[in-house]
Amino acid sequence: MRVHEIARELGLLSKDVLAKLHEQGISEAKNHMSPLTQEQVDLIRQAFPRPAAPAPAEPPPNKILVRGPIIVKEFAEQLHLKPNQLIAELMMMNVFASINERVDLKIAQQLAEKHGFTLEHEKKTIEHKPVTKAAEPAEEPSEDRPEDLAARPPIVTFLGHVDHGKTSLLDKIRNTHVAAGEDGGITQHIGAYTVTHHDRQITFLDTPGHAAFTAMRARGANLTDIAVIVVATDDGVMPQTREAIQHAQAAKVCMLVALNKIDLPGANVDRVKRQLQQEGLNPEDWGGNVICCPVSALTGAGIDHLLEMILLQAEMLELKANPRRRAQGYVIEARIEPGMGPTAHIVVKRGTLKVGDVVSCGPCWGRVKALISDQGIKVRTAGPSMAVKLLGLTSVPDPGAEFQIQPNDRVARAQAEKLQAEKRMQAITAPKRATLDDLMQPLTTKEASKLRLVLKADVQGSLEAIQNSLGSIKSTKVQLEILLSGVGNITGNDVLLASASNAIIIGFHVGLEDGIGALAKREGVETRLYSIIYELLDDIRQVMVGLLEPTIRQTVIGHAEVREVFDLTKKGKVAGCMATQGHITSRARVRVKRAGDTIYEGTLVSLKRFQNDAAEVHEGQECGMRLDNFDAYAPGDVLEFFEVEKIAQQL
Ligand code: GDP
Repeated sequence: MRVHEIARELGLLSKDVLAKLHEQGISEAKNHMSPLTQEQVDLIRQAFPRPAAPAPAEPPPNKILVRGPIIVKEFAEQLHLKPNQLIAELMMMNVFASINERVDLKIAQQLAEKHGFTLEHEKKTIEHKPVTKAAEPAEEPSEDRPEDLAARPPIVTFLGHVDHGKTSLLDKIRNTHVAAGEDGGITQHIGAYTVTHHDRQITFLDTPGHAAFTAMRARGANLTDIAVIVVATDDGVMPQTREAIQHAQAAKVCMLVALNKIDLPGANVDRVKRQLQQEGLNPEDWGGNVICCPVSALTGAGIDHLLEMILLQAEMLELKANPRRRAQGYVIEARIEPGMGPTAHIVVKRGTLKVGDVVSCGPCWGRVKALISDQGIKVRTAGPSMAVKLLGLTSVPDPGAEFQIQPNDRVARAQAEKLQAEKRMQAITAPKRATLDDLMQPLTTKEASKLRLVLKADVQGSLEAIQNSLGSIKSTKVQLEILLSGVGNITGNDVLLASASNAIIIGFHVGLEDGIGALAKREGVETRLYSIIYELLDDIRQVMVGLLEPTIRQTVIGHAEVREVFDLTKKGKVAGCMATQGHITSRARVRVKRAGDTIYEGTLVSLKRFQNDAAEVHEGQECGMRLDNFDAYAPGDVLEFFEVEKIAQQL
């Protein structure tokens, strides 16, 4: 028997079993696949006895206790009848029910009595018990206490230029480090897989490349902890390597470089390191802080070292999660599978997912029927950073959707229905993201005073010119962040990156690739195309100024005094005033002051000289006025008129 098998039998995590073994001084069991002797198995069984199932209270012999719906087949057994006998009796009572149908309680009671039984019906708690707050597991606090946190495996994605070996590396690591086929299981592609290296685990996301990476981010699923940038040493840093670096930087994930294909005669590790330096990634062995691992996906050389370095990075990142809370995580992909219904490949971010949990996942929900690991083994639980295939959802969730555990079906269904309704609404209204016009609106939060750009130009030269000019816009108040700058038309990746980071896309002498306009619209990303550099810079400067809260300046333009109040029953009270200083305009704002205190501030509804509307009244002139929503003026009140100006701040 292996560690994970006994763990499964006892409903434990393998690591609990391992911890117990180590506590007992048994150190040869290293991971969940380690075989155990019978003695060790017995020791674990003793250490974690299964709670004895409470023996169901035996009903007295002539009493039938039924729980939940009364089904013909089961009821027949309880009455010691054959199902068809019961069906016949029911027919005599004008009830036509098949073997799997339910029987009305009253009818069942009559039948029970007829056969000398009394029927007691216990309603199923979940269906009928009045739902009180106390019946539901208490809400968990969203923050974990530091003492509940435990180290979790890092989640790693491979990024890099096409053909540099991302898929080959993933496959090589899987083939050499995953014990495939154990327990009759077949290695499954479930969106991610976990390898064990020196007793510690690493989870690799199965879909390499920054398109998938950023698409997940755009949907809010920031799963990756460490991005491994794969560069082929016979080819060097290429445009998509640069893009990958920029995408990883935008996501603020930790980066590590795999220098692949070192087995090839044309491989030149130092040349690639120099190129990386030019991209701002300084190799660690050259005094920088980026770990570079020479590897070969073909021969497997350097792969152990790469895994060690990933674990080292993970240690430095202090990745932790609370395994003892309800699970939360993300869907990587989902589909309908024949014989299984909707299946979702998910990665647990925190907590432990268990069979039987009620999951809600955007507008989908369901009770976890089964969990299948990357080795094709049915598991009962999945802890932080683990990937599993989840069976039991009622429909197919979107990739990137977040899932949570709900206290019961009712809550999960209600939440799903609410989100379905919201989704329908969203289909009608466009998504809200940064647009230039939005950004022109003053925003007050600190976060808002950052302008993020994705920059695309026709040639490297103009790209550099634009970057230099943008860099020369000096501002201490608004930060300009270029998430990505690249040569070529605006692509779907650019849109997804902008969408994930709330950025706008600026194109210079470039266009949009086919279909990208529609995608940008769907994602609510603004794309702006320019062919004249100073227009581009002017616009950006304006946007940056627009991000600043304008200063408000008030200028007092005149004063008046209330001399008499006229009560016009229909229109309310009119203040008969004398302009005592300056001038009054009908559009000015006004403050009413009494004994030095301001008792009202607002606007004028009407300003009249004699019977006529007046736009302006000057010092020494009499006038009548009504204020908006205020008529408690009294003779002697002083009215102060002022204008408000918004003054744009300088950068
Ligand atoms: P991806 O596009 O980055 O996923 O690259 P692939 O993994 O599909 O690899 C592209 C090609 O490079 C394939 O033909 C691989 O066999 C080859 N390849 C990948 N890694 C290595 C390596 O370490 N050495 C050699 N010689 N070839 C490799």
